[in-house]
Amino acid sequence: MTCLDLSRRTLMAGAGALAAASTLDLPFGIAPAHAQGAPVNQNPGFYRYKVGDITVTAINDGFARRPLEGFVRNAELADVRKAMEQAYLPNDALSISFTTLAIQAGGKLALIDTGNGDSGAPTSGAWMKNFRAAGFDPKDVSSVVFSHFHGDHINGFRLKDGTAVFPNAEVMVPAAEWAFWMDDAKASAAPDAMKGAFAGVRRVFGPVAKDVKQFEAGKEILPGITAVAAPGHTPGHTVFAVASGTGKLMIMSDTTNHPALFVRNPDWSAVFDMDGPQAAATRRKLLDMVSAEKMQVAFYHAPFPATGHIAKDGNGFELVPVQWSSAI
Ligand SMILES: [Zn+2]
Repeated sequence: MTCLDLSRRTLMAGAGALAAASTLDLPFGIAPAHAQGAPVNQNPGFYRYKVGDITVTAINDGFARRPLEGFVRNAELADVRKAMEQAYLPNDALSISFTTLAIQAGGKLALIDTGNGDSGAPTSGAWMKNFRAAGFDPKDVSSVVFSHFHGDHINGFRLKDGTAVFPNAEVMVPAAEWAFWMDDAKASAAPDAMKGAFAGVRRVFGPVAKDVKQFEAGKEILPGITAVAAPGHTPGHTVFAVASGTGKLMIMSDTTNHPALFVRNPDWSAVFDMDGPQAAATRRKLLDMVSAEKMQVAFYHAPFPATGHIAKDGNGFELVPVQWSSAI
């Protein structure tokens, strides 16, 4: 039988035969883990790559699921479902994954964002396990840099009980983000739906407020890392251009949420974008730039390891993942 002879029935029969083989005839005497009631143990969620002399380690912090309905503000649900189907994803709910970056440059260890800590969805919170599995220790972190102040990016900095997770790190924040969230007048005037976000920012940063280093966009904030203003998602939302030798990477932060929706459709706006039109303009500009420059990109909310390149495709773009490599 050639491949061309395959009908649905022979495929199904084949699948049945495979299933039988997998339970009865496993190679190397390995029994399936679920048969023993053992948890399925994935590989640690970290992935290392180089940008010139700089070593970047993507560290996964799990995911949160949310209904698709209401997620894109300015598109019909039917169109959003279609975009999910075109990416072979479920069309009723979205798994939003979290990927922070650890950056080793000049003998120092910096973090870009910190994940959910113990404040996120039950399917998140794996960050510390993955960070340690990558060979890091929180006390060795010299700088923690924040892209913006949403809870999924900052809560890993401080546990719910108040413990500071990175005792020796300087804290670096976008000045525009600090100005917005730490403004008491804005906090008290905020709609009820946003009051929790303001309180969360104060919970995380309050104890270190006087030591926080604010940076301006356009400045090189650490060797090889330049802050770039990317407002819209939040007022001070920042992306980071990393350059070393011929290597260049744009850390896109939350310029897009899931790429299947917002890289494909840059004019769509996620419910988390505080200024939808401004976020869309920023998104298009950045996607245009990284695709023209052929820069590698890293996203916070793309499928792990959340890095690749951006290709133009019609009126939108496509994320082309990097080829996974076992060595750097
Ligand atoms: Zn986010």
